[in-house]
Amino acid sequence: MSNAIVPPAAVAVIGLGNMGVPMGACLIKAGYAVTGFDLLETARRRFAATGARVADDMATAVAAAEVVIMLLPNGKIVREAVTAMRPHLRPGAIVVDMSSSDPIGTRSLGEELIAAGTAFIDAPVSGGVRRAVTGTLAIMVGGDAATIDRVGPLLSAMGKSIFRTGALGSGHAMKALNNYVSAAGLVAAVEALRVGRKFGLDPALMADILNASSGKNNTTELKLKQFIISETFDDGFPLRLMAKDVRTADDMAQALGIATPLADLCAGLWEAAARALNERANHTEMIRYMERLPKA
Ligand code: NAD
Repeated sequence: MSNAIVPPAAVAVIGLGNMGVPMGACLIKAGYAVTGFDLLETARRRFAATGARVADDMATAVAAAEVVIMLLPNGKIVREAVTAMRPHLRPGAIVVDMSSSDPIGTRSLGEELIAAGTAFIDAPVSGGVRRAVTGTLAIMVGGDAATIDRVGPLLSAMGKSIFRTGALGSGHAMKALNNYVSAAGLVAAVEALRVGRKFGLDPALMADILNASSGKNNTTELKLKQFIISETFDDGFPLRLMAKDVRTADDMAQALGIATPLADLCAGLWEAAARALNERANHTEMIRYMERLPKA
């Protein structure tokens, strides 16, 4: 790893939302010279308020960066951002898409960039805002091994478990599949909660029993009491993004010709919830959508 990119190298963080801000802060803490950019001035101000440097335009944000990290809503927006930054990238810059993007789009975008001489890897994350703040995310990385080696120290500043998933796009494929499993588990836990509550079971006791039993999953452990039963709904992961991820997983299944009846249902359900609730709804507010469904 002799040519690894170590502090105080210049890094650009594009997308200063729920994840970009804390992940950028981890890089600053590790000693990198971070410049943040977001289309929204409010987002730029929020990052600047943490003492970070922000740029007012994409060109300035990426001009000096050895590594450009993106934390953007989806792959389509990643492509737009890459188009905007390309003419301004410094020679030899590495572009890392840490968003949860569509893996097929990632492959084609990455191939275009690599053919033009710009290194590109996908490195989506899991663990939510809580683990972004503590720099303990799970990171799944796809792409060229030598490029991944070079950005290893940056990934370690943001994550605890770093998995190499294989070729370009494989990190994004794994991320979509992970979120499908998580989304299906949330719906199952919420359905059980509603049925149990109506039958007369105590919701908090239900969570305790599930967590000591075979029904335990990420939602029962980390979301039921914390965000759903308490009705705080504030874990920082918007429902619209979960809906996107489940759709990505289901589209992958279709493209590969694999029957996934539960993923088909789940993708439709999360999209319907995203349409019914407001744009800022948290994904744990899925219960609010389910409460509106007609009685069985
Ligand atoms: P977010 O919506 O909070 O932030 C995205 C930011 O990107 C916004 O501030 C938006 O203004 C900005 N943006 C949009 N288009 C832009 C452009 N062209 N140039 C610059 N900035 C632009 O989203 P988030 O929750 O931070 O998630 C970012 C990515 O990480 C998503 O792909 C999401 O699926 C994934 N993710 C989120 C979480 C979570 O818990 N929030 C967890 C794991 C993965």
